[in-house]
Amino acid sequence: MPPLPASFYAQWRVRCGVTPLLREDLDSPPERLLQAVWLHQRLRRDQLRTLDGQPLRVLHPGFHNLEGGPDFRDAVIQIGQDSPRSGDVEVDLRASGWRAHGHDRNPAFKKVILHVLWESERPADEAPPALLLRQALDAPLGELSLWLGSEAAQSWPENLRGECCAPLRELSASQLQDLLRQAAQVRLQSKAAQFQARARQAGWGQSLWEGLFRALGFKHNVWPMQCLAELRPRWSGDQTEALPLQARLLGISGLLPVDLTRAQAGTDGYLRRVWDQWWRERDEFSDCILPRELWRFHGLRPANHPQRRLALASRWSLEADLPAKLEKWCSRDLPDKELARSLLEILQVGPDEFWSWHCTFRSARFKKAQPLIGGTRVTDLAVNVILPWLWIRAVEGKNQAVQLAIERRYFAWPPAEDNSLLKLARQRLLGGPGPRVLSGAAAQQGLIQIVRDFCEHSNAVCQDCKFPELVREFNHLAT
Ligand code: SF4
Repeated sequence: MPPLPASFYAQWRVRCGVTPLLREDLDSPPERLLQAVWLHQRLRRDQLRTLDGQPLRVLHPGFHNLEGGPDFRDAVIQIGQDSPRSGDVEVDLRASGWRAHGHDRNPAFKKVILHVLWESERPADEAPPALLLRQALDAPLGELSLWLGSEAAQSWPENLRGECCAPLRELSASQLQDLLRQAAQVRLQSKAAQFQARARQAGWGQSLWEGLFRALGFKHNVWPMQCLAELRPRWSGDQTEALPLQARLLGISGLLPVDLTRAQAGTDGYLRRVWDQWWRERDEFSDCILPRELWRFHGLRPANHPQRRLALASRWSLEADLPAKLEKWCSRDLPDKELARSLLEILQVGPDEFWSWHCTFRSARFKKAQPLIGGTRVTDLAVNVILPWLWIRAVEGKNQAVQLAIERRYFAWPPAEDNSLLKLARQRLLGGPGPRVLSGAAAQQGLIQIVRDFCEHSNAVCQDCKFPELVREFNHLAT
């Protein structure tokens, strides 16, 4: 990645150790970083093999376990021709860690199905299949350590005003905006670096599709959506009509109901036609159908159900020129107030005979047809996917005018919908002002970046957090 301008915030987070810089010649990165590599799957996911040479598919990396026991719970993987399996994943520097740490005698490790390692050496006979991370990273170690420093996620506490609240209140409104802006720029670059790394492996178009699919998974279903996007070259090729492509994508997702509702004739009619299509192709795709257990539905708003999101994704996939349309959009001269509307125009799809009227196969029919995508989702897609992707393309193409134009859009974008993470961050860091203190989506992104960089590495009493010191130094330099 070409050198990027380093703001005060960017330099500070490196200086204070938020981003532990690694070098290529470093023998053993800290285990925490290996866990972050696994959690965020910063791997060449389509080329993974176990230590004994079997192809490995990671359908879900599992949930980071911060208590005793294996590092990740409930991962889903597929090795060779076997069916997908659920179980735990343990991350160690070396294979010898399996015995040295007593995992072989600890019943808590009985469900480990994969041992993720940095070093190559002979594993213990009874140890689970192993994956070597060292050759599988999707970017050089130094680049990854910078990226991972900003994203490594841990659980974080609630209901406490942070130690940084007082120094932040001493900043003027414009100083606070400037600090959030610098943090937001770090976030934009961090997301862009992920697209860049993936594009090196799979091409720019595919890296964009994967970002769009991940964003449609919300936080619940990012991984199954990522898996479907990775299979896109296989399922999208020859199909030019909406219903057959919907059927194929729903079939591969494992979300197609087997039974009719027997209560809604319209739904049953649609479901029959989808199955008519899917029957014919099921054998062809049988090796990549996702297990239904991969999907999470608990706490999901009906409008965000993956069945409806897949209907939208299948409609987008009919438009092979979507990446080109987005590039054209970024070269248009648009007033700030037109940004979200103009992007929605590109991402909106026409009416769908079933999904314009339903959230899921089982839900009641809406009284009025609803669009498959609304303004809220467009903002999430813009700041998390489309603008970072366009920005890094401009950086790689050394097109500074476009790069600056995209940054201008990023910083002018209207705010996203408020959420629990932002509410808590406003309370802890800013002392509880209303959502309007964050005037745009970038300010929200900046606040989230500070939470990722600092709150998530500290605890409820802000132990050892260096952010208050950063704020004081920032204030001192500005006055
Ligand atoms: S952990 Fe750090 S950044 Fe988070 S609220 Fe406490 S002092 Fe502020």
